[in-house]
Amino acid sequence: MLISELFYSVQGEGLLTGVPSVFIRTSGCNLRCRWCDTPYASWKPEGREMAVEAIVEKLAEWPQARHVVLTGGEPMVAREVRQLMAGIREGGYHLTVETAGTIELGEAGCDLASLSPKLSNATPLPGEIGEGWIARHEETRRNVAALRSWIAGAGETQIKFVISGEEDLAEAMALVAELGHPVPPDRILLMPEGRSMEELRGRTGWLVEVCKAQGYRFCHRLHIELFGNTRGT
Ligand code: SF4
Repeated sequence: MLISELFYSVQGEGLLTGVPSVFIRTSGCNLRCRWCDTPYASWKPEGREMAVEAIVEKLAEWPQARHVVLTGGEPMVAREVRQLMAGIREGGYHLTVETAGTIELGEAGCDLASLSPKLSNATPLPGEIGEGWIARHEETRRNVAALRSWIAGAGETQIKFVISGEEDLAEAMALVAELGHPVPPDRILLMPEGRSMEELRGRTGWLVEVCKAQGYRFCHRLHIELFGNTRGT
């Protein structure tokens, strides 16, 4: 499978923020988000081919790590991803899968499903990419049945919305209501959109107030604060 990056760092987002983790970033995505911060794994996928066995063996280079994060791109479009998920868990690791939730979980298992369904703020603009891709992105980005499969099948779930402006909130809340599953409010994460601390800070103040009002969790991007928007972090 095509691997963009494989590195050891600390988790920057969500319930496990700060936990040392090995990150496996697959290359390739079925979406084309306007603000994607890993275009090298989506818009212009690059990387090197690695066998599932070689990826699992590589984890032993960091014997202190007990957490693995499978991310992308969209990891669930990768051939053999389910074998990789099984291999990671058979190794005794805690597995988080970071996915947009457009593809059903199926028989595979994971300990934490980090679902990030894309709102209309992610749709690429005309001129950024061909009309065909814009239409495909819109048809694909919202898949309630697939999201439900993850919530039902994963050990734990967090749902993370990337928020660009106040107009995104109603859309996010409508999707949560439509899911119809009992996802506790503190597992609903609102994360400011931004690839720099300046952008994040500009969206933080009012978003914290929304979280306080709704009981949702504010989602910082610790890796941006620690390392900036750089690869391998
Ligand atoms: S789903 Fe994730 S990796 Fe794919 S384009 Fe959107 S932000 Fe980028």
